[in-house]
Amino acid sequence: MQDPPSVMSPLNPSLAVETQIPSNADASAEPITPEGRDLYDKLWALARNLWWSWHPECDHLFRDIDPIRWRQLDHNPIALLREFSPARLALRANELVLHSRINYAHRRMQEYLTSTNTWASSAAGLLGAQPVAYFSAEFGIHESIPIYSGGLGVLAGDHIKSASGLGVPLVAVGLYYSHGYFRQYLDEEGYQREDYLETRIDNLPIEPAVGTDGAPITVTIATRDGELRAKVWLMHVGRVKLYLLDCNVEENKPEDRELTSRLYGGDVRTRIRQELVLGVGGVRALQAAGIRPAVYHLNEGHSAFGPLEVIRQLMHDHGRSFEDAAREAARCTLFTTHTPVPAGHDRFSPELVEEHLGPLRDALGVDQRTLLGLGRVDPDDISEPFCMTVIGMKLSRYTNAVSNLHGVISRRMWATLWPTRSEDEVPIGHITNGVHVPTWLAGQMAQLFDKHFPAGWKSRMASPEIWQAINTVDPGELWETHNALKNLLLSFVRRRVSRQCRRRGESDAMIEAARNVLDPQALTIGFGRRFATYKRANLVFNELERIGELLSDSDRPVQLIYAGKAHPKDEPGKRFIQEIANLRHDPAFAGRIAFVEDYDINVGRHLVQGVDVWLNNPRRPLEASGTSGQKVVLNGGLNCSILDGWWAEAYNGSNGFAIGDGRSHTDDAITDARDALALYETLEHQVIPIFYDRDSDGLPRRWIKMMMNSLSTLAWRFSSHRMVADYTTQGYIPAAGGVSCEMRVH
Ligand SMILES: *Cc1c(COP(=O)(O)O)cnc(C)c1O
Repeated sequence: MQDPPSVMSPLNPSLAVETQIPSNADASAEPITPEGRDLYDKLWALARNLWWSWHPECDHLFRDIDPIRWRQLDHNPIALLREFSPARLALRANELVLHSRINYAHRRMQEYLTSTNTWASSAAGLLGAQPVAYFSAEFGIHESIPIYSGGLGVLAGDHIKSASGLGVPLVAVGLYYSHGYFRQYLDEEGYQREDYLETRIDNLPIEPAVGTDGAPITVTIATRDGELRAKVWLMHVGRVKLYLLDCNVEENKPEDRELTSRLYGGDVRTRIRQELVLGVGGVRALQAAGIRPAVYHLNEGHSAFGPLEVIRQLMHDHGRSFEDAAREAARCTLFTTHTPVPAGHDRFSPELVEEHLGPLRDALGVDQRTLLGLGRVDPDDISEPFCMTVIGMKLSRYTNAVSNLHGVISRRMWATLWPTRSEDEVPIGHITNGVHVPTWLAGQMAQLFDKHFPAGWKSRMASPEIWQAINTVDPGELWETHNALKNLLLSFVRRRVSRQCRRRGESDAMIEAARNVLDPQALTIGFGRRFATYKRANLVFNELERIGELLSDSDRPVQLIYAGKAHPKDEPGKRFIQEIANLRHDPAFAGRIAFVEDYDINVGRHLVQGVDVWLNNPRRPLEASGTSGQKVVLNGGLNCSILDGWWAEAYNGSNGFAIGDGRSHTDDAITDARDALALYETLEHQVIPIFYDRDSDGLPRRWIKMMMNSLSTLAWRFSSHRMVADYTTQGYIPAAGGVSCEMRVH
């Protein structure tokens, strides 16, 4: 473990550099001009705020300093800058004439961070004084910060980026995982292997969070089995502060020092301890930082112990009774549920709950039955385990699902919590997920939009009118831009799969074949997501011969790019990966299929920016929302999806493709067989013919029209700016205003 980085303010770069000691750069040994020093300071200031990560011009700036190292270092600007002394960096900036780009990027960031003219300043003034505290077990902000595993984390990252963009006062709370989620590679048999690599903390834009007393914050949480401690890191994501709790402190027992080292690692006891740190520790960390949130937003059940600590503080500070304080805590808490998959809801035994919440329960002055009852649908049913989703719903004013259909399913799923009501009176609403446009929109496509969209469109991304302008773009220009992005994707895939072959020690012929895999002219279908079995990554291979024929059609070829990780304990998921990865050895698929290892935000970005079609075929209705298809929309790709999650409300008949008619059978095998048939029919009768229907200029006019329909009808609706605006008006403002809510504490 290295020394923690020095405490510094990203708004004050000169202070930053004085206290910053880059590892292998000896600043005093080489002369540097004041201008050189200034550029060096500005680059460090940019690297210290993740604002840079959604501005392609900053990304390119760092890349140009050393393109090879940039790629090797996972696009991590801190790791890159640490390799340069100020003098060497100044030299490099001179060679590449970077001065005006650095100054411009730095000025734009300063303007952004200090601007008060935001959407929220007019629409959400009420929230001014006290922020929303947004809790999530993972945050997917950029590939260089591996504290996420998949969609939930990326959604949380997009949420805080949009909160920053809209000026919604929000602080975020999560856990710092020193070893993150695993890195995936496939062995000679195509079987998934997992590596947990330690992230060097001095390569992260992170600093110790300090409390009101100026000292680094440590929180302590008592359990029946001793105390747990966590230190707190602070990361800047635009205007949003992200606090991350880390149990790797000397005072902890050795096994507890490892508690937060892996995301979703360990057993159920690890899980409840992590969730105790996130929820209870997180609320205490904010208190220590002097932050008094007006609203608590629990992104999924992992943080749902948090309200118990809010209740304790209210009882302690204001002498409230438990019932009173619980009502008050619920009044300012929102809960978002993310999955109808039963295994997706954490459940704990009464013994584990008592071991970990016992001391807090004593402070609340309630008996075991009362505490356990908060996590049970029926508080009197002692056979029922303690469920984090249930306590989240009971201790919040408002629960929301993440798509319209998921709302329907969630009301049905939890109807027993409100036994006197009919299903549609169950008070669970929905706010459909969206994605952060600047993060997922390719630079080249953004330039096209800049040319044709109304000025200032980037600050009005959630307005439908803006996106109507796509219809004024020349179809050929849109098609060329898409094809340029598709070529970038194909080079990326070739580079990655040939590297994979080299690592496995395959023959020169195999490596050469990998270098030439895929055809830039062929219809390219992408599939990238977790290999959870309900997502059915292998559905399209249900009839191998039929899909093989489509792929090897010489006039109208089709090709497939796959990526995704299976949870380390998910054997069926790993078998799906193996089955798909090994198809490259089958002559019917060779050269037309690629599996890109180690799916992460970087792989995801390449895929969603370059595919013609994004395939999504979950077993309905288990995909609560799904967001990867929304990223594809922005870049001109078309969705081909089961009518589940967001697609059930997005598809209008001319903005992409539907698989099936939205029905499912109670027997999974029957559903799967029907859906596979429907998938083949959609491919054979719609996707392939429309893609290959070219005019005399070689343009697929009907296809391009669908791209335009997709952009104009979907991009604004499924943006995280729209999503955060909805949370703000429907959730945050009423909660902060203290508008009373239903009380669900039994
Ligand atoms: C967007 C994204 C996801 C979510 O994909 P789904 O469509 O919701 O399955 C998962 N992982 C990464 C890296 C992403 O960027």
